[in-house]
Amino acid sequence: MANPTLLILAGDGIGPEVMGQVTRIIDWFGVKRDLTFDVEHDLVGGCAYDKHGTPLHDDTMARALEVDAVLLGAVGGPKYDNLDFSVKPERGLLRLRKEMDLFSNLRPAQCFDALADFSSLKKHLIAGLDIMIVRELTSGVYFGEPRGIFEEGNERVGINTQRYTESEIDRVARSAFELARRRGNKVCSMEKANVMESGILWREVVQKVHDEDYPDVELSHMYADNGAMQLVRAPKQFDVIVTDNLFGDILSDCAAMLTGSLGMLPSASLGAPNADGRPKALYEPVHGSAPDIAGQGKANPIACILSFAMALRYSFDQGEEAARLEAAIEKVLADGARTADLMGEEGGTPISTSEMGDAILAA
Ligand code: ATP
Ligand code: MG
Repeated sequence: MANPTLLILAGDGIGPEVMGQVTRIIDWFGVKRDLTFDVEHDLVGGCAYDKHGTPLHDDTMARALEVDAVLLGAVGGPKYDNLDFSVKPERGLLRLRKEMDLFSNLRPAQCFDALADFSSLKKHLIAGLDIMIVRELTSGVYFGEPRGIFEEGNERVGINTQRYTESEIDRVARSAFELARRRGNKVCSMEKANVMESGILWREVVQKVHDEDYPDVELSHMYADNGAMQLVRAPKQFDVIVTDNLFGDILSDCAAMLTGSLGMLPSASLGAPNADGRPKALYEPVHGSAPDIAGQGKANPIACILSFAMALRYSFDQGEEAARLEAAIEKVLADGARTADLMGEEGGTPISTSEMGDAILAA
């Protein structure tokens, strides 16, 4: 069988630094686990603009549509702040998301035991926490028409439109139920059907997809405001949460911060299945290019490494190897390895990006 292909777009700022640790781990899998990937490297963001005058070259875009998965570091930086909107580094990422049609954004909130004290919340609330938020990413109020700032009488009015079609709700619901079957088999769908028509349709379609094709998965519905409260009050009641673009934006940031630093948070964005049944997929850490620490060897590579672990699980059917990698991270954290972002009150001496990579490889 052909090796799985992975396109790596390290990007700007700390992107290449954290990605450097991922490529060491990929090499390790080839040597120690007989799991070899055909890895290709290319440019996205500011570095692509520097070379090609565009933040995403057409050839890179075409390749992204062909490979089994794309792993992205981060894009942007102060050097590019004054560029024209059409060539800003972020446009490279937006083009990838749009042309790959990545409608399902997965953001885990997972608590590593060793960091349970690091959170501002009480330890018992988050110890053992493992939830996944599935956010609809390509529709809703961010894209609905009409939108704009209009004159109305003698003042202006700002308008956005929350709009969802049945098929848009259907496909993201399916991706949440599929995911739940590989996890705790439980989905909570969040909307505001009490005040929004789109919420009424959302609830109806999610229920229908469930009843027809996923009756084995436990489904509940919750108003999104209550969901926010429950996330902070008792987050362990959830397994998979599925919600729209706007609520998902807010709820996933909220859930993520239950557990610690930006340097720890991976994400995946999935699209429609290819011919082989695997969805198109882009994996990336939640954090950005962090220009304030770029080039100093201070960045925490774990978010990017966990993004690769998600690729192992969701694109390459290597759940056990993903768990192996996550266990190594749990171990080095338990042993006390901390990059600067994980130092907290107690102080101590932080280790560098590559020392964290060393420790994870050793574990
Ligand atoms: P973007 O607009 O690209 O999302 P942002 O303004 O949200 O960027 P980030 O680049 O995500 O900002 O980083 C915010 C801050 O968090 C950084 O300035 C940095 O200090 C810290 N940070 C982010 N990622 C990491 C990391 N991997 N390791 C350590 N610190 C990090
Ligand atoms: Mg940000």
